[in-house]
Amino acid sequence: RHYLDRIARLDPVLNSFITVMAEQALADAARADQLLRSGDAGPLTGIPIAHKDIFCTQGFKTSCGSRMLDNFIAPYDATVVERLAAAGAVVLGKTNMDEFAMGSSNETSWYGPVKNPWDTSRVPGGSSGGSAAAVAARLCAAATGTDTGGSIRQPAAFCGITGIKPTYGRCSRWGMIAFASSLDQAGVMARSAADAACILDEMAGFDPRDSTCADVPVPDYVDALDDDLHGLHIGLPKEYFGSGLDPAIGDRVMEAVREYERLGAVIREISLPNSPSAVPAYYVIAPAECSSNLARFDGVRYGHRCTDPIDLEDLYTRSRAEGFGDEVKRRIMIGTYVLSAGYYDAYYLKAQRVRQLIAADFKHAFAEVDVIMGPSTPTTAFALGAKRDDPVAMYLNDIYTIPANLAGLPAISIPIEPLAGLPVGLQIIGDHFQEARLLNVAHRYQ
Ligand code: GLN
Repeated sequence: RHYLDRIARLDPVLNSFITVMAEQALADAARADQLLRSGDAGPLTGIPIAHKDIFCTQGFKTSCGSRMLDNFIAPYDATVVERLAAAGAVVLGKTNMDEFAMGSSNETSWYGPVKNPWDTSRVPGGSSGGSAAAVAARLCAAATGTDTGGSIRQPAAFCGITGIKPTYGRCSRWGMIAFASSLDQAGVMARSAADAACILDEMAGFDPRDSTCADVPVPDYVDALDDDLHGLHIGLPKEYFGSGLDPAIGDRVMEAVREYERLGAVIREISLPNSPSAVPAYYVIAPAECSSNLARFDGVRYGHRCTDPIDLEDLYTRSRAEGFGDEVKRRIMIGTYVLSAGYYDAYYLKAQRVRQLIAADFKHAFAEVDVIMGPSTPTTAFALGAKRDDPVAMYLNDIYTIPANLAGLPAISIPIEPLAGLPVGLQIIGDHFQEARLLNVAHRYQ
């Protein structure tokens, strides 16, 4: 009731929820109360969370922030949803997001932008901006998010919360609407690394329904939280502190790094020489995969259908023209272009090669250091509307987050000292399946 009251009071301004599931939440909370009294509680019994509206929730609207799916009631639960429910979590609702997770400001949502709770004239980041704003404004205890190029870490940084993108394949993608399948990963947005650890423990693990889900044992993330950091080797990539970075953010990040030094860590400069090519490579690969994934929205099987089509061609064309917003259309056009005969080698194949080079950079780095630290974003949260008409400026927001996605690595953003009243995020990147280490390093700062 506490959280539902806050949602009713504050969300008319923040717009962080697309659907509030009040009735079900209260029924689940009453059941949780029984379980707690009878001593049968699970690890998350009664914990009120929210799901990004990209995760299918049986019997409830799953819109993915798009008019295309405004009428879509999911017939089944995503694995992540199912697992958190089995652990006892109570779902308060579904959070707002950029349309099909394409965006960095939450302004591409069909349901209107989300406002940053620290300053409602600013964006919360995206695409998981609804989850980030809801956690920051204490409208839920934690929320799920997805990160294809930074969509957990960037909004976490802008809203002053903790957000972890696990290793690619750590959490199942089954029932999570696909954007770019080789990059998409589910993760947690929470108030602290300790909270994120509790939730990730329940979300992660093998799922035979997702062929890219890794069959790797899940360690106890909570157990490792307090591990000592003496002798931890931290690498600072020089490319992450270059000209695009707001110098004041660079200073904040260095203050945080010195804090780790006091905790016994050893700092050294490293180089990820190919990281400047990450954004261009991503904006070939992600649209290519999205153009293929979004072909399923044809107005026939589910989703928006135009009225009175004159023939099949007209049905496809008008349903898609009406159902998708501008950014999604831009991505589909870029994607079909880079995959078309004659351009495939020049763009798509080349981007895949760049991706290999970026992965190799990290491999070299992790031969020398345990974790990599840098800023999560080049600036603090920007004003609503400031970059809406400039896609390239918008894309450059993800300059520090995208490399980890291309390499499939886990990464976390944690809040450090704010700047002029606005949150700042420290990004910590780890080697594959080192989530326990990341959560431990994050926890020790807080
Ligand atoms: N902002 C990036 C994009 O628009 C990343 C989105 C994401 O991680 N889902 O593609």
